[in-house]
Formats: sequence, structure tokens, C-alpha cells
Amino acid sequence: MRVAVFDTHSFDRRALEAANQQFGHELVFYDTRLSEDTATLARGFEAVCAFVNDRLDARTIAALADEGVRLIALRSAGYNNVDLVAAETHEIPVVRVPEYSPYAIAEHTFALLLALVRRIPRAASRVRDANFSLDGLVGFDLHGKCFGIIGTGKIGAAVAHIAHGFGCRLMGYDPRPNPELAELGLRYVGLPELYRESAVISLHVPLLPSTHHLIEREAIAQMRDGVIILNTGRGALIDSRALIDGLKSRKIGGAGLDVYEEEEGLFFRDLSDEVLQDDVLARLLTLRNVIVTSHQGFLTREALAAIAQVTLSNIQAFERGEALVNEVRAENVVRPAPPPAASEPEATSKPVR
Ligand code: NAD
Repeated sequence: MRVAVFDTHSFDRRALEAANQQFGHELVFYDTRLSEDTATLARGFEAVCAFVNDRLDARTIAALADEGVRLIALRSAGYNNVDLVAAETHEIPVVRVPEYSPYAIAEHTFALLLALVRRIPRAASRVRDANFSLDGLVGFDLHGKCFGIIGTGKIGAAVAHIAHGFGCRLMGYDPRPNPELAELGLRYVGLPELYRESAVISLHVPLLPSTHHLIEREAIAQMRDGVIILNTGRGALIDSRALIDGLKSRKIGGAGLDVYEEEEGLFFRDLSDEVLQDDVLARLLTLRNVIVTSHQGFLTREALAAIAQVTLSNIQAFERGEALVNEVRAENVVRPAPPPAASEPEATSKPVR
């Protein structure tokens, strides 16, 4: 099948080309991000392959339909950047890679956490400068601390296993509790209790209208002083301005962010010769207790190979008229159910935006 692959970089091009030996699709790679303005590049292609910062809104999808595109193949698990209703209106199925390596993202979450808690970037740059002083590098033990996981699906569960290995007490919040995590001693609670108890809070929920700005001022106010917030989910789960205020007031002790709500147009690009125009991100980057990575949680050899394999087999299934096991449809999108029985009433349910 002829596939226009958008927002490609050397690493995913290599992985897709290697996996394609087995499939024989005709892949044309664009480094351009897919949007309404670039959809004409898909002319003559039956499928487009898109990533997390391609913008598949209603206008882009209408433009793709005009160009004759019949399939949208996401090489990501998340699909918040796709207007699924518009895709259905134009009868363009959307397939994704629901699972590739939850370990890649879970391990990156801990890379951020340990780097923050043990001040690794600061320590490493000091030592490189022959400054062997330890002042300002005091961290804390993770052992025995309460680790709160919001969203205990595949990635959240992998995080729970690692946190258990560190000797953390585990708390979780998810409308669909995972009974297997009880073996690790994970206790499902309401958000207020999770906020009140957790020394570390890690986000692993999809970005939905109901999870947009899940972490905002009111939520932060309920957290423990000095809490560490980790976000390897999606940027807009956190209100960045509220986060900055929490960091400035030292209510929040540190933030490890692999995602940022305005990352589209910034992340995955080398802007080192330019003046950063995003003042919120620029402020975050001035704070020593913040570590930002450029949406690289998925970036392991194992995950890239699995993403390429599943993406190309999704395209093959469509080409052969087989069932699309990894199709995502608007009606299947998880809507939060009432929270599990908790020790106190839910106080932070968010309006649907
Ligand atoms: P998953 O579907 O296995 O798990 C998501 C969990 O969130 C489910 O258990 C679901 O019940 C729960 N959930 C839904 N709404 C919730 C709410 N309002 N409150 C609490 N829990 C809620 O997905 P996953 O594979 O674990 O991925 C989680 C997210 O991680 C993805 O949606 C994606 O945004 C992000 N992700 C990031 C990267 C990266 O490179 N940083 C890579 C892959 C995925």
C-alpha cells in the first residue's frame, strides 16, 4: 500500500524500513508535520501514517479525504490529536499501536524521577567542571514513600512494579482498577487521598476532555508540600501555569516532564539557534527542580521496532480487508466512570470541556 509517513525522523524511518522488509508497503517519508496545510502531500496515497504532534483535526481529515486517503495509521498509543468523529464522518478508519513497550515509558518516568530526586543533572555538570562540592545536592529516599499513580493501565502498571521494587507504598486512582496490582499492595483511593498522601505523583491517563488540566491549582493545593510530579502521559494533563506557581512557592518540590501542553511545533525539532518563543516553557526551563525531556519516553530500540511492526501490520490488515483489531473509534473512547470506593468523596471531578 502507498503510505505517506509524516513527521518522520531518522530513528523511526530506520525502524519502519527494517520492518517493511516483511510487508513491502511503499513508504514515502516526510519530515513535515501533518496538518490542514500539509495534507496535500498525501495526494495519491491510500494511507497516512502520523505521530503524536501531527494535527488530525476535522479540517485536516476533510482535506485528507479530498486527497483520497482511506486510512489513518497512528504510530502511537495516544490518539488525542485525532478528531475521531470527523474520521468516522469521512469513513476513514483510524488504527493505532495500543501497546508497544510500556516499560520504555515507565523506565523513562523513573529516569526523570531519580534525576530530579538525586539532582543528577546538577551533580554531573558540577563534576565535569571539577566542582566536587555536595552542597545543594541533598535528595531523599524513595524507599517507604507513598507513590501515587493516576491511571493504572499498561504504563501505570509497569510504573507500579518498578515503584514496588524501590520499596514505595503504592496508591492508585483509575475508574477501571487493575486487580493484579493488589499483589503489589497498591491501594485504590480517591484523588483527594492520593494527593494528600503521595510524595510522588505520576500521570498515566489518556488526554480526554475530562482529564484536560487534571492537575490544576485546586488539585495542587491538596498535595503534600514538596510533592514530585511526573508527567509522561500528555502535556495538557497539567495546567503549566499552575505548575509553575506551585514550583515557585515550593509547594511542588520538583517536576519531571516528558510532555508539555504546547509541545507541538517545539518538540522533536532542533531550535537551539532560535529564540524560544514559548514563555511558559522558557520559565519552566529556568527552574532547577524541573527536568523536561522532549517526548522521548517511547524512544527505545525495542519500542521503535514494535511500533513499526504493529503500524505496518495494521496497514496490511486494512489492505487485505481483514478486521482492524487496533482500530480506535469515537464510541470506544474511555469516559471516566465514577471513582472506586474511596475513603472520602471525590472532590476534583472535572467538567467536560
Ligand atoms: P492504557 O489505556 O493502558 O491506560 C490508561 C488508563 O487510564 C486506563 O486504565 C484508564 O482506565 C485510565 N483512565 C482513563 N481516564 C481516567 C481518569 N479520568 N482518571 C484516572 N484514570 C483514567 O494506556 P497506556 O498504554 O498505559 O498509556 C497511557 C498514556 O500514556 C497514553 O494515553 C499516552 O497519552 C501516554 N503515552 C506517552 C508516551 C511517551 O512517549 N511519553 C508513550 C506512550 C503513551
